[in-house]
Amino acid sequence: MTESQVPVSDGGAGPVHPETAAVLGGRTDGEASLAPVLYPTSTFSFDSFDEGRRLATAHAPERFYSRYGNPTINAFENTIADLEGAEAARAFSSGMGAISAVILGLCSSGDHVVAQNHLYAGTQLFFQTVCPRMGIDVTFVDGTVPGAFAEAVIPGRTMLVFAETPANPRLDLVDLDDLGSIVGALTVVDSTFATPMVQNPLAHGVDLVLHSATKGIAGANDATLGVVAGSQELISWLWGFATLHGANASPYDAYNAHRGLRTLGARLRQQSETAAALAEFLEGCGEVSEVRYPGLSSHPQHELALRQMRSMGGLLTFDLIGGSEAGKRFVEATSIARQATSLGGPETLICHSATTTHVSLTSEELAAAGIGEGTVRVSCGLEHVDDLVNDIARAIAATEV
Ligand SMILES: *Cc1c(COP(=O)(O)O)cnc(C)c1O
Repeated sequence: MTESQVPVSDGGAGPVHPETAAVLGGRTDGEASLAPVLYPTSTFSFDSFDEGRRLATAHAPERFYSRYGNPTINAFENTIADLEGAEAARAFSSGMGAISAVILGLCSSGDHVVAQNHLYAGTQLFFQTVCPRMGIDVTFVDGTVPGAFAEAVIPGRTMLVFAETPANPRLDLVDLDDLGSIVGALTVVDSTFATPMVQNPLAHGVDLVLHSATKGIAGANDATLGVVAGSQELISWLWGFATLHGANASPYDAYNAHRGLRTLGARLRQQSETAAALAEFLEGCGEVSEVRYPGLSSHPQHELALRQMRSMGGLLTFDLIGGSEAGKRFVEATSIARQATSLGGPETLICHSATTTHVSLTSEELAAAGIGEGTVRVSCGLEHVDDLVNDIARAIAATEV
C-alpha cells in the first residue's frame, strides 16, 4: 500500500477507506434521515436580539443567511473535508467560483503566481486575462518537469503555485510530493479529474485542494458546484472573502453533490475499469496515433500515476491520425457516447478538444498543450463496457473515407 492508498478519514468509525468515508460523511448527530437534508432557505430567523447580534458577528454561522452558511451546504463541505483529510472545506457556485475565490482571495496587486501551462481552459484564461488586469503576475511552467514549479517561485513575491493533476486534456500529471515540498508560497491543486477517491493532495503537503464538483463528485450532470479544502486557517480566510465575492453554492446543488458522493466510489471503480479497457482497445487501432491514459504503461508518467493515484480514473484522450476531418466524423458517428463537454457522469461524453473545451486557445497554445486537430477526450460513463467499446469501434471505422 502506497501512502496515497492509506485510508483517509476517521468518520467516527476509526480509520476507513475513502469509499466508506463518502458514505459516512456529513451526517449530523441524531439526524434520522439517511438522505441529505435540503434547506432551500436563503435566510434563518433568530430567537432574540442577542442571538441576532451573535450570528451577525459569528464566523461561518450555519443558520444566519445562506451566503454565510447553510446546513445542506455545510454537510457537503464536511464530507469533502473528511475525504480530503482536511480540517475544513468551503463550497462555491461552480469550479470557476472556487478557483477565482482562491486566486482573488489570496493574491493582491503586485503578487506573483506560478501556474501550470496545461490547465482547464477557463483557469488558463483567468490567469491570462483577469490576473494581469488585477496586477497579479503569472509565470507558466511545464508541470511535468520535476522541480519546475519550485524554480519559478520568487521568494517574497510568489503567493500561489497552482497545479492541475491529472491535467486537461492530455492527462499529464504533476508530482504531488514535489509540489507539496515547495516552501514560501501556498500550493493549490485542481484535483477535479481525480476526485477525492483517487488522490489526496493535502497528504503530500499541498496547502489547498479544489474540485469542480460539477463533474465526478456530483456525478449526474445535475449540479454546478465547486469546493476547496485545506487548513481551518486558510478556509476561514477564504470564507471571509467568499461572503463578499458572492459565488456561494446553491443548497440544491450541494444536496445533489452530497447524494452523488455516496456512490462516488462505486462509480469511479466502474469508470476506471471501462476507461482501461477502452484505452487498451484504442491502442490497438491503426487509425489512432496516441492514447493517453495514466493506467497505460505507455503513459510517460505511468510510474508516478501508480505512486500517487489509487485508481486511474474514467478519462482518456486519443489522437485520430485523420486530423480534424476524422475528429468530426468520429464524434458524429457514435450513438452511445454523446458529444458534450464536462465529465464524470453516467453518460460517456466525447469532445473534440480543439473546437470545444480549448477553442479559446491560439494555435500556438494548442500545439504547446499537445492538442491536435484529431484530439478527442473521452469521459467514460456507466454503460456496459462492451457496448461502449463497440460504439467507439464503429465510430473509428467511420473516420475512414
Ligand atoms: C470543469 C472544470 C473546472 C471548472 O468548473 P465549473 O464547475 O465548470 O466552473 C475547473 N477545473 C477542471 C479541471 C474542470 O474540469
